[in-house]
Amino acid sequence: MGPGPSDVHSRVYRALSTQLVGHLDPEFLAIMDNLQSMLRTVFRTENRVTIALSGTGSSGMEATIGNLVEPGEKILVCVNGVFGTRMCDVAERVGGRVVRLERAWGEVFDASEIRQALESDSDIRFVSIVHAETSTGALQPLSELGDICQEHGAYLIVDAVTSLAGLDLRVDEWKVDACYSGTQKCLTCPPGLSPVTFSDRAVEKIRGRKSKGVSWYLDLNLIDNYWTEGQRVYHHTAPISMNYALHEALSLVLEEGLENRYARHASNSRSLVAGLEALGFSMLVEDESKRLPMLNSVRIPDGVPDADVRSGLLRDFNIEIGAGLGPFAGKIWRVGLMGESSRRENVLFFLAALETVLRALDTGVKVGAGVDAAMELYRR
Ligand SMILES: *Cc1c(COP(=O)(O)O)cnc(C)c1O
Repeated sequence: MGPGPSDVHSRVYRALSTQLVGHLDPEFLAIMDNLQSMLRTVFRTENRVTIALSGTGSSGMEATIGNLVEPGEKILVCVNGVFGTRMCDVAERVGGRVVRLERAWGEVFDASEIRQALESDSDIRFVSIVHAETSTGALQPLSELGDICQEHGAYLIVDAVTSLAGLDLRVDEWKVDACYSGTQKCLTCPPGLSPVTFSDRAVEKIRGRKSKGVSWYLDLNLIDNYWTEGQRVYHHTAPISMNYALHEALSLVLEEGLENRYARHASNSRSLVAGLEALGFSMLVEDESKRLPMLNSVRIPDGVPDADVRSGLLRDFNIEIGAGLGPFAGKIWRVGLMGESSRRENVLFFLAALETVLRALDTGVKVGAGVDAAMELYRR
């Protein structure tokens, strides 16, 4: 129940142990085609270039920014947590000129301030932003940003590592040009692949680059030649087993249905929050509509020993939760309810365990009401 990796379904473990075939075997190519088509459904896109990169979520960050941004080009990076900060680092490494737009951690950006930033600097060619900031639990609304970017001749890059398959995300409708994710959050697969999707205009931009990108391994043109039917040019050996696993994980997502899955994440989060609030805790993100359902950040009350609670949960209950990062170290806990981990019994077990640990540590927190408050919401 941390910020990822999430629990893995037994069907996905079984898929991982499937016999290997070669990365150019017709059986494997059929799996790739299927996987691509399922990824398009989950990203809600018809983008031709929709693939699973070899590497964790950060490889998707490097691939989107590194392929799109050419040396000297300006990119507006929205920074309100760890992952926006990481995007700046990645963009600088590929020679981009980074313009940082900052918000306090835990807050999100208004469309109007992004519009303003683009209006005040017409050289900005990209806007990059995190949909679900896992370091804070804040949910960034995206629906207006694509139009704003297009009006200003900019490309929109979105980090959907934590949001994909847990939260409404519409790549085509929201006019997102490049979007990347990871397998170990709400897709609920082991870490190792990064699903990415690029709009046609983003692909054209990449095709028209004046210089080669710095990464050979993540060069989208080369990778696309392997993923495209009729071409299938060897680039690097695909991590076959991970592709099996993702294929199975995506099947599970689609069997449940995207809307059902979003609703399940939302419902478990609401019950968790009700339980925590009944214990007197408060959530870091005050505005309910800006809270992530898969990553619940809760303030640690004064006098409650952060590390002792987390180690008590792990030692006695085998529950892992995430610590705060950066300015929130020691100040918040991050409780993940991602994919397979987003279950009623996890919410109730966590609350009961937390109450027991708090009681044993003599923290002064009045315990007893958490599980009932969560149950009350479930009964409704
Ligand atoms: C986890 C995460 C990443 C990085 O993914 P890795 O799989 O750890 O490389 C990037 N962005 C966000 C929002 C994340 O939550």
